[in-house]
This record gives sequence, C-alpha cells and structure tokens, in this order.
Amino acid sequence: MGGKSIYVFIFTSLIVTLVINYYFSLPSLWMLLLIPAVAIVFLSPTWKTTIVVGILGFILIILSEFLFHQRHLLYQDIVYLIMTGILEWIIFMVIAFFQIKTARVVIKLGNFALTDPLTGIYNRRYLELYMEKIIPLSEKKEQTMTLIMFDIDHFKKINDTYGHHAGDMVLQKMVRVIKRAIRHNDVFVRIGGEEFVILLPNCSLEHGIKFAERIRKTVENTKFIYKGIRIFVTVSIGVTEYTEGQDLEKFFEKADQALYQAKETGRNKVVWLDNTMAFQN
Ligand code: GH3
Ligand code: MG
Ligand code: MG
Repeated sequence: MGGKSIYVFIFTSLIVTLVINYYFSLPSLWMLLLIPAVAIVFLSPTWKTTIVVGILGFILIILSEFLFHQRHLLYQDIVYLIMTGILEWIIFMVIAFFQIKTARVVIKLGNFALTDPLTGIYNRRYLELYMEKIIPLSEKKEQTMTLIMFDIDHFKKINDTYGHHAGDMVLQKMVRVIKRAIRHNDVFVRIGGEEFVILLPNCSLEHGIKFAERIRKTVENTKFIYKGIRIFVTVSIGVTEYTEGQDLEKFFEKADQALYQAKETGRNKVVWLDNTMAFQN
C-alpha cells in the first residue's frame, strides 16, 4: 500500500470506528482505533508521532463517548472505557516499538547497500536509482543538469610506490576535501576504484566547467601526507551537460569520452563535451 491509498485507508478506518462506536456502546469496540493509529505510525515511524497519535486517540475516545452516550454513561461503563483505553495504549506502544525498530533497520540496510564503505559517499547503485528519479523531474522543470566525471591520474603508481594503504588514504582524503566544495543537492558518487562522478542538478555546462576546474585545483593543491611523505595527486575531469530526451547511457558515455580526452591530452585537466560533440578545454 502506498501513495494516496494509505491516507484513504486511515480516514476510512477512523470513520468506520466512530460510526460503529456511535451505534454500539461496547467499550472494547474502541480497539478498532488501533487500525488507523498503526497505519499512521507506519507512515511516520517515530516516537513523536506515536505519542501524539496515542494522546489524540485517547482524547477522541473520551470526547466521542461523552457526545454519543452522555446520558447513559454508568460508572461501570467508565471503568470499562478506561480499561480499554489503557489496554489499547499498551498494545499500540508495543506495535509502534516494533514499527520504529524495523524502520531503522530498513534505513540502515538501505544506506549500507547504497554507500561505498571506504569513502562513505554513494555508490554506483545509488546513482542508478537517483537517475531514474531525477531525470524525469528535471525534464519537467526544463532544468539543465551537468555531469562531472573524474579519475585520479596514475593512481596505480601511487599504490605501487607507497602501498595500498597510502592509496586508500588518498581516496579518503580527496573525498573529504571535495565534499566540502559541493552543494547539498549535488550527488557525489564513487563509481569505481579511483573513478568518481558528481551530478549537478539544475546546473549549466558553463557553471559545471568552472566547478570542475575548482575541483581540479583543489586536489592539486591538497597536501596528501603518508608516513611523513607528501604524495602529489592530480585528477583528470570530463564534463557534459544533459540534454532533454537523451539516453542515460549516452549521457555517461559523453562524460567518459571527455575524461578519456583529458587523459589523452596530458592529464590534470578539465575537458568538456557540449552538444555539438566538440571537445574543448
Ligand atoms: P590513469 O592516469 O590513466 O587513470 O592511470 P591509473 O594508474 O590511475 O589507472 P589504472 O586504471 O591503470 O589503475 C587504477 C588503479 O586503482 C588500479 C587499482 O589497483 C587501484 N585501485 C582501485 N580501487 C582501489 C582502492 O580501493 N584502494 C586502492 N588503494 N587502490 C585501488
Ligand atoms: Mg586513474
Ligand atoms: Mg580508472
């Protein structure tokens, strides 16, 4: 169940509960209120929601009983009502507890599957999921989107010279430094060993190129120190712009081509490919 249908379900079950309790003055029938309450916590699995829903439910029971049956309420009815209310609270809290726990595990698992363990940024799988959602969105708003793809220069040599640990340190530190430069909406992804992508939604090619140049300079100027030795690191960058209706694979292929061109023509540089498919740098 998702989207609007859950709201309809909550609303309907709430009305049905009220109608039933209006016609039958059996306190335990208020147990039906658990149905919309649990559905609300399913939508928003937090303790705050649980407490608010719990209190509102209690108020609703008291108010309704008072309105529906005020003249006929006996002492015994009130005791039953309070007992039902307490029992309902306990059941609701137990269900909410497991709902909240489960939601947290799901979030953790989701993060685990979509992030890269070494650097903590997103992985290729996340990028795929993201593209599926953002592409239709940016087409609707007619926004441009820019893709920056970069790869560390001669990384194999860094590994060979200083060891794998040094290589890992370089990857981690580089990600940390670049993360400081990106905006909240930008999507930073490690797509492979020493290959990264930054997706800039709502960003023109012109801005993307400037940004790529900033990243290139930042990496070049960062001091990577491993066991007291400075390691010089540079990146080659390819930049492209997304055009409406373009195939996703083409979009990445273009960035890859620009990156390849940057490698071929000397490394430590930014090359972009505009819609005329002409390389520039
Ligand atoms: P180029 O300038 O053409 O990109 O040369 P390169 O040496 O950077 O490229 P190449 O693809 O030949 O080598 C990439 C190396 O990256 C090989 C691989 O062992 C290393 N690598 C991939 N993932 C990791 C990682 O997680 N940690 C470390 N330390 N090294 C990695
Ligand atoms: Mg490389
Ligand atoms: Mg590579």
